[in-house]
Amino acid sequence: MKQLLISTPVGPLGSGLGGGIDLTLSNAARSQISRGHEVTIVAPQGSHLPDLSVVEIPGNLQIPAQTQARNSTIDLPADSVLANMFEYARQVQHNYDVILHFTYDWLPFFLTPFFETPIAHFVSMGSMTDAMDSAIARIYANHPESIAFCTRTQAATFPFVGNDPICLTGGLDLDLYRFQAKAGDSLAWVGRIAPEKGIEDAIAAVDWLGIPLKIFGNIQDAAYWQAVQARHPKAPIEYGGFLETRDLQAAIGNCRALLLTSHWVEAFGNVAIEALACGVPVISSRCGGPEEIVTDGEVGFLFDVADVDGLVTAIGQIGMINRQACRTLAEREYSLEAFGDRIEHWLQRVIH
Ligand code: UDP
Repeated sequence: MKQLLISTPVGPLGSGLGGGIDLTLSNAARSQISRGHEVTIVAPQGSHLPDLSVVEIPGNLQIPAQTQARNSTIDLPADSVLANMFEYARQVQHNYDVILHFTYDWLPFFLTPFFETPIAHFVSMGSMTDAMDSAIARIYANHPESIAFCTRTQAATFPFVGNDPICLTGGLDLDLYRFQAKAGDSLAWVGRIAPEKGIEDAIAAVDWLGIPLKIFGNIQDAAYWQAVQARHPKAPIEYGGFLETRDLQAAIGNCRALLLTSHWVEAFGNVAIEALACGVPVISSRCGGPEEIVTDGEVGFLFDVADVDGLVTAIGQIGMINRQACRTLAEREYSLEAFGDRIEHWLQRVIH
């Protein structure tokens, strides 16, 4: 297959602005290349992915959907990079068998009937705005096979989705994640620092317990981050910046557990499978995707959203989790081969 992959318009690949999409897209691309498919990646200018070439497209970035209200209208900036990426795709479409996009935006859904090459839609978030819901619903009504979600819980946030949605979850090049059998003292928190990720719960828990917490990720909302820190001036936290995968896995690999404290519906939770790949148990709120990854009591624990007492209790039980079981789950469900299989199977359906 000749595949054209279109990245998120909210930020260049490698910047951290796109959250989990960077990793999902690059692993999707690698998984397809390793199967002999030809893959071209289109992404905003300034994008870089180690070992993969990218067609960089200029233009202004898109506002992330998660910052918008349910009744927000569709917004496109002047000289929109999203529009420019799809204009490029329109021009080169006949060189490809399929266009696979990772944007969570109205335009690709609207444009689908005007393209001659089939478009496959990877929906990377739960239901956010009415305008997006209706754009996705329009395509889903006639071509449900052209839309893939991450998890069933995420798919179920869209009222029109049937009982058997296509769910791709995620996958990793497990060779890049070193299993660490022995845990050190610290806990870890990884993700975009933004209100929907609920980092204040992790900080409140470690402030209470006195256990060090290492934090990694892009600061998307600086005012929120300042306010959270001001509420816990003595919490034993250390912010380590935004790290590349190689450094990130080394930094979290000997942590006792990863704390995933989201307040919104997580479509998947790449950081959960990255931690498991290192042998690090995951303690997650019941926030969607991670509930399908973390079997309670086997590779970590689940607690209710924003329930800091529940989180504190789970941290106290972390010694019960076998770190090898965490790695084994990652190997079984979230290898690049397994992910590549799911994507290839889906794209063949879209083309035919
Ligand atoms: N990440 C990273 N370096 C960091 C912190 C995070 O590369 O220092 C990546 C992480 O690997 C993951 C993404 O950021 O792929 C966060 O994605 P997730 O699916 O957890 O949430 P999202 O931001 O998409 O809501």
